[in-house]
Amino acid sequence: MISEDEYREACDAKKAAELVINEFHKQELNTFEERLKSGRPFTDDELTYAAYARCRCGQGLAYSNDCGIDHYWECSAILKGTPDLNVAHDPKYPFSCYSIKSEGQPSAYGHTTRPAGVIANRQSAIANRQ
Ligand SMILES: [Zn+2]
Repeated sequence: MISEDEYREACDAKKAAELVINEFHKQELNTFEERLKSGRPFTDDELTYAAYARCRCGQGLAYSNDCGIDHYWECSAILKGTPDLNVAHDPKYPFSCYSIKSEGQPSAYGHTTRPAGVIANRQSAIANRQ
């Protein structure tokens, strides 16, 4: 049988652990925010791409792997610092307002707007037609 003292100790340990966990997430988010402010371009490896959704410029929508839950989808070309400045780009799509399927989700069936994925998907589509 668990004593009341043991229960209180467990509750105190839980509170202490929550403080550490929350501080860790805060640090991660601060690191991400600093990175975002620096304007240093992201690489494809640092981004999660949308399975299907693209910016009106033709590039896939994406978000940084390190962002928080209150972030947004954005044109991957902008995130990579390579946007075509002669065409319009979509606005940012907050996660809280838009349900955009990301690559890697089982229901995305392997689809991605990641540049290399586009080529692979096209090749498999062509192969399936033959
Ligand atoms: Zn764009």
